[in-house]
Amino acid sequence: MGSNSYVHHFHVYECTRCIVTFAVEMAFEDQSVVSCPICQCNDQLDDISSGAMELDRRNDDE
Ligand SMILES: [Zn+2]
Repeated sequence: MGSNSYVHHFHVYECTRCIVTFAVEMAFEDQSVVSCPICQCNDQLDDISSGAMELDRRNDDE
């Protein structure tokens, strides 16, 4: 098989109040509870980007 990687989906948000950007994984479905890590608010959030990132899994050591 040889499929040792999986894809992380994420959204990038910007809090326009704090001028900070942060990424949130899409693994769970509760995107509505996303809040700024600085001010803990979600009313100033902009969903500026989203993407996917392929990660390697190196678990064949056993
Ligand atoms: Zn904020």
